[in-house]
Amino acid sequence: DSLINKIAAGEVVERPASVLKELIENALDAKADRIEIKVEKGGKKLIELKDNGTGIHPDDVLEAVNRYTTSKISSIEDIYSIESYGFRGEALSSISSVSLFSLISRQAEFPLGKELIIEGGNFKHLSDTGAPVGTTVRVKNLFFNTPARERFLKSEKTELKHIIDVFIRYAIYHNDKYFKLNIDGKDLYILNPSKREERIKNIFPKIDQTVQFLEENHTGKAYGYISPETRTGKGYIYINGRPVKNSILSRIIKSKIGESFYTLFLELPPYFVDFNVHPAKIDVRFRKEKPVHELVKKALETLEKPQISF
Ligand code: ADP
Ligand code: MG
Repeated sequence: DSLINKIAAGEVVERPASVLKELIENALDAKADRIEIKVEKGGKKLIELKDNGTGIHPDDVLEAVNRYTTSKISSIEDIYSIESYGFRGEALSSISSVSLFSLISRQAEFPLGKELIIEGGNFKHLSDTGAPVGTTVRVKNLFFNTPARERFLKSEKTELKHIIDVFIRYAIYHNDKYFKLNIDGKDLYILNPSKREERIKNIFPKIDQTVQFLEENHTGKAYGYISPETRTGKGYIYINGRPVKNSILSRIIKSKIGESFYTLFLELPPYFVDFNVHPAKIDVRFRKEKPVHELVKKALETLEKPQISF
């Protein structure tokens, strides 16, 4: 079982940033509105996430790190109506099989929480513990027991870049939540709940002007912000709340706005989108491409009408 998990871990856990992605998604799925992250040495030494979500029932803590254990779907049909980020039940089992892993969790209706420790997939410890309501997951020495994969990691600086990118992607979308990112003992971001426009400006202090766009038709809804003066060539795309990458969409956007910074939020019927290219990848394919492209083009044209009010 431990070997199977180690192999499976390669699917979900590619690098520290993929660990962070899974932990953030779990916190959000648990309805947390305070998410505090600590990272050391590009995440190679430590990735820790503390949330104030619902927590895990004391009887379920051990089960949560078992492979294919998810509390989020109960039938295969649920996959098509899923509103949570996770549903495969692979993340915690994979992560805990290739790290020194600890999880502390408490639900509001219990006076005590549980602390679980797993080292390289081996159970070490489970006990009652005092804890605030919510969950703290600590992932130390990622890939310590899979040296080949450890060597495959890039420099601390590069891994940190990926970590910050993941953090920013979720922090932009979940502007109504408190997010904090501490890197090697220093707070890099402290983001209080705010409007999305303000959140973007808090993350990117260089952005001072944003213009909005919005279009809604039978396909769905597309809206977002452009910062015409911030010519970074960077952009963030979301579909139904998931950060995604799609090269054709990025190209369409660039052809309209050049190198301007942008965010694009798409709301589409779930059957339009195929998220399952790869569990750890955020590349997305559309089952119906044309209508999505048309929707985005139309939305960007609304930029040219400055009198529009939202
Ligand atoms: P998935 O998210 O696909 O269900 P995971 O391996 O990421 O699988 O998590 C397994 C289970 O552990 C989740 O279904 C959930 O019940 C529980 N869990 C994990 N992280 C948290 C968290 N931060 N707060 C509450 N429950 C959590
Ligand atoms: Mg998950």
